[in-house]
Amino acid sequence: MSGQKRQLSKRCVVLTGAGISAESGIQTFRDQNGLWENHRIEDVATPEGFARDPQLVQHFYNLRRAQLLSPAVQPNPAHIALAEFEKTFRGEFLLVTQNVDDLHERAGSHNLRHMHGELLKARCTHCSSIVPWQADIELLSPCPRCHRSGSLRPHIVWFGEMPLYMQEIYDALRQCDLFVSIGTSGHVYPAAGFVEQARAAGARTVELNLERSAANSFFDESYQGLASVMIPQFFAQVQHPGA
Ligand code: NAD
Repeated sequence: MSGQKRQLSKRCVVLTGAGISAESGIQTFRDQNGLWENHRIEDVATPEGFARDPQLVQHFYNLRRAQLLSPAVQPNPAHIALAEFEKTFRGEFLLVTQNVDDLHERAGSHNLRHMHGELLKARCTHCSSIVPWQADIELLSPCPRCHRSGSLRPHIVWFGEMPLYMQEIYDALRQCDLFVSIGTSGHVYPAAGFVEQARAAGARTVELNLERSAANSFFDESYQGLASVMIPQFFAQVQHPGA
């Protein structure tokens, strides 16, 4: 990364994936041969899987939520470096995450969109309310808004469902001059296609990942290493109006 040119950036979009939270102790997805914490994706991350076995799916996300809330899981230097960059950046900054954990918020990020939902929220399939949720969701847990029993599900975008905030994200990609993708395998669309949108807008496109991702050939620059090391280094050299 030492040979990078300092280039002025006024509009920056950052995309993060499971790799940025790996060093905080949360397992990624693809590193497990297509299994997520030993489960097939079709079983725990699709509406069909939920319809087939709601107990298994609720239990799976209850475990993920409990893990996220355990004292051992904390933001790492990569989350913190992004939050600090946002604080000093005088241009427009949007952080889009595919992650369902809340480590970016805990590190202090503000302009943040969870395109795949949030583990610490529940959604009512009856009244569509989205509510903060830290406990287990039981099969008959009542919705705190409409009081119907058995209608709550994790506020997670499963495969085959529409990701959130897409219009806003595409608008930002169309206008950005710097697009940085961090810790994502480039297998999950539409996020894997964001680099092409940013390129079409003329942005500098940079990938920071442990290994070359499936979308690697679309990036102008690509660096391999640990997020906790590369992210602080990379954002320290981005030249911007506030720097
Ligand atoms: P992914 O698991 O498919 O890919 C993770 C990528 O991160 C891999 O390419 C891996 O090489 C890289 N990586 C691993 N450790 C790293 C490190 N220390 N530093 C830098 N890079 C590292 O993840 P994805 O592309 O985000 O897609 C998976 C889907 O699963 C997402 O939709 C997400 O919602 C969900 N998921 C979320 C979490 C979370 O919220 N933390 C965890 C697992 C899965």
